[in-house]
Amino acid sequence: MKEIKMVDLYGQYSRIKEEIDKALQNVIETTAFIKGPEVKSFENALSNYLGAARVISCANGTDALQIALMALELKPGDEIITTPFTFVATVEVVKLLGLKPVFVDIEAGSFNMDTEKLESAITPKTKAIVPVHLFGQCSNMEKILSLAKKHGLYVIEDAAQSLGADYIFADSHRRKSGTMGTIGCTSFFPSKNLGAFGDGGALFTNDLAIAEKLSAVVNHGMIKRYHYDYVGVNSRLDTLQAAILSVKLKYLDEFNTARRTAADFYDNALMGLHNISIPVRMKYSDHIFHQYTLRVKQGQRDALKTALEKASVPCMIYYPLPLHLQKAYADLAYKKGDFPVAEKACGEVLSLPMHTELDEEQQHFITERIIEFVN
Ligand SMILES: *Cc1c(COP(=O)(O)O)cnc(C)c1O
Repeated sequence: MKEIKMVDLYGQYSRIKEEIDKALQNVIETTAFIKGPEVKSFENALSNYLGAARVISCANGTDALQIALMALELKPGDEIITTPFTFVATVEVVKLLGLKPVFVDIEAGSFNMDTEKLESAITPKTKAIVPVHLFGQCSNMEKILSLAKKHGLYVIEDAAQSLGADYIFADSHRRKSGTMGTIGCTSFFPSKNLGAFGDGGALFTNDLAIAEKLSAVVNHGMIKRYHYDYVGVNSRLDTLQAAILSVKLKYLDEFNTARRTAADFYDNALMGLHNISIPVRMKYSDHIFHQYTLRVKQGQRDALKTALEKASVPCMIYYPLPLHLQKAYADLAYKKGDFPVAEKACGEVLSLPMHTELDEEQQHFITERIIEFVN
């Protein structure tokens, strides 16, 4: 059996090596390392894939979130609603810009924002909702969009973990994750579903005026050469990464299908096991399994993690401590018990190896170790 890895980037590269190497060689020979033609063509390809009017690339997913907030010209103290069960970047950028993160608890099943609890968190200072489509599954966008409309709020989708997932509306029309709100943000961190060979990120929008603004903010706030209308940042996707991403974008649906096949295998093997809950799939979203995350009940999570690691099966806890209980965010004055569903999740979640190269022999080995543990 091949060594089991949490993420197998080399295995994936090997399958498309020729195309990737050729794309890289081409950039190296033209030496257009910054703003080469591959950047525009990747943006156009992604915009076609997503069905979003405009895609603006940037240096990473954290920058994408920050730039989205910068483009909306918010005032210090404005409130931004998100969940405490996400990667820290979602909340960090809110604080960095002098805005106030306001948390809403998650749903036990999807780990996404509990939209039943959303409206009561909205105040006159609320300016935006930031749904995070965690682990590869969209939040309840229909509900979020309708509340945003009712209260006049922006919606910034954190689609760092969900690129390629469809949201399915009640009337059964579909939209790609990240293209339903005011602005969508994603990350091309190597382990993401569409991963570069380094850092990268992008913003999407269907609003052309906002797109103009985003394009300026990523480039020092520049409107025409050496004329600055906004305070901006320097955040670029470099040409080598864009060339790699253009190749990999063609395989994104295939990659996401491979993850879903692996998830189906896990589901079948682990369904109904004592003290183990398999991921809940919501009817309104595809699940593209950025992570395959179990809940392990009765305080057994850490023991299962140790047992798996002993058997050379890597596994990870995303996330061990909710953001409202982190030292850096103590001044928000939340306390233990404020978001009980997120707090409980932190004690129960365990993410199994998930990538495009998992084979059945490996998955059989992984699931047998879990079955042994619970019996
Ligand atoms: C990865 C990630 C980010 C940040 O992306 P980077 O490219 O690492 O800056 C933001 N939000 C979520 C939910 C993520 O998973």
